[in-house]
Amino acid sequence: MLLAVHGGAGERKPDKNALKKLSESLASGYTILRNSGTAVDAVIESIMVLENSGIFNAGAGGNLQFDGVRRLDASIMEGKKLRAGSVIGIEGIRNPIKVAQLIMDSPHVTLTHIGAKKIADKNNLDLLPEPDKKSLEKLRKTKKKERKLVNIFKQYFSTVGAVALDMYGNLAAGASTGGIPAMLPGRVGDTPIIGAGIYAENSAGAIACSGIGENIIRLSLAKEICMNLKNMTPYKAAMLSLRRLSKIGGEAGVIVINKKGQFAIIHTTKYMASGYAHKKSIVVKEGFKRILPVF
Ligand code: ASP
Repeated sequence: MLLAVHGGAGERKPDKNALKKLSESLASGYTILRNSGTAVDAVIESIMVLENSGIFNAGAGGNLQFDGVRRLDASIMEGKKLRAGSVIGIEGIRNPIKVAQLIMDSPHVTLTHIGAKKIADKNNLDLLPEPDKKSLEKLRKTKKKERKLVNIFKQYFSTVGAVALDMYGNLAAGASTGGIPAMLPGRVGDTPIIGAGIYAENSAGAIACSGIGENIIRLSLAKEICMNLKNMTPYKAAMLSLRRLSKIGGEAGVIVINKKGQFAIIHTTKYMASGYAHKKSIVVKEGFKRILPVF
């Protein structure tokens, strides 16, 4: 059994509170695995802890788009039957990862706000208040600085993601985000795109990515790493794909586990707040293995 979580890849050092919350998230998720729970439930639980904290760019702490609206994305996938669910741009819901799970249990894979909100309301999911003054002020400053949508990588992103292997040999991956710091209304990143932001397949592994979504989508990063896991270690598979990503101008971090329970946390960015839980240990760091981008 193994659980790994991340709190975003980026250039700014994650603070202590973020690392503490990641430990909490790992402890809650791993308790589920230890009590014979499934990889899907462990991933959902650890992501919900981070969404509820308000200190990550997900759920209660999600970024605002340029029109002042918080549109959140999330996804979940399980590796046995390749069932997946994702939500794009949901508004007013605290735990988009729960919505993604409900969508996975519906006949569909991906829903945008209109349908997803109906499912969330029907299941009485917690609501999110309107953005407060502080978030609107932060947006005003970001807009001024980032009008051209450049230099956004000079930040610590704080999207969240998790991957797990349960006692039944099932793998799962999930992620939740408020997008990038500066974005036009309606922008969608990799997080809710199955195969880009996350992927899981029991015969190979489970992956969750973080970084500027546009490039991650162009490479279908999570799926590419997953396919390579069939004959490579997590480290090698992740490194090859991150090198390819950097050649098209992308930067990212990934958490990867394989069916044997081996894992790798690798990033081209300076930091990737992340960690893992295995047996009795929980390890969280501001970054694991950095590989330098090849341009
Ligand atoms: N990948 C996310 C997005 O592009 C951002 C992040 O990972 O921080 O929406």
